[in-house]
Amino acid sequence: MKAQILGVNVDCLTMQQTLEKVESLIHKKQSSLVATANAEMLMLASHDFELQKILNSAALVTPDGAGTVWAARHLGFNCPERVAGVDLVTNLLKKNYRFYFFGAAEGVAKKAAEKFPNVVGVRNGFFNSNDEPEIISQINSARADILLVGLGVPKQEKWIFNNLKNLNVPVCIGVGGTFDVLAGNVKRAPKWMQQAKLEWLFRALLQPSRAGRLVALPKFVFKVVGEKI
Ligand code: UDP
Repeated sequence: MKAQILGVNVDCLTMQQTLEKVESLIHKKQSSLVATANAEMLMLASHDFELQKILNSAALVTPDGAGTVWAARHLGFNCPERVAGVDLVTNLLKKNYRFYFFGAAEGVAKKAAEKFPNVVGVRNGFFNSNDEPEIISQINSARADILLVGLGVPKQEKWIFNNLKNLNVPVCIGVGGTFDVLAGNVKRAPKWMQQAKLEWLFRALLQPSRAGRLVALPKFVFKVVGEKI
């Protein structure tokens, strides 16, 4: 079932169903985009119509974050659980697929990749447009099943969408700051905070530079309540 939240269709699936869907996309062998939508991304997509169109063309959009799950339920959709990008990636990495890590500062994806034997290629996320043909050719020659792109929102979704026809990778997922977490450079909130739906607060406290982004949350709640009315 899809929940329409501020113009974006979000797939209301469990983590298990999401994993099955990603695996079915891998077997289709056709390049596809997977996005993980938190409140901030949905707020952005409500006025960045290019991003909104891209998300609505994606093979899968997961409800990443307590805000997205709340919004889906508030709007009357049956949204079973949060499917956070970092959890989705952690579960996929346990499976026997070939991964390419593309994104984050120099050395970060490399450090993250050292922890997983099934990563077949790595590239940092700082480049200019002249580098892109080389980046795409390196990604394609690694013959990955899953490309993780961590360039931040909406750069990563736009980059995947614009290069989908040139990429020879069945599943391309926008993963934000996941490489920083996998490398151990950024900590995730403790389990109790995740369960209390306070992971956003933890991230803001840990990286005060992100605190400004928190204003998106009340704005999001306001907009969703308005949409229902
Ligand atoms: N990043 C990158 N290239 C860029 C801009 C950002 O690789 O041109 C990386 C950055 O180093 C970080 C990630 O993209 O690893 C963005 O992380 P953030 O937690 O801000 O992600 P978001 O909240 O947008 O999902």
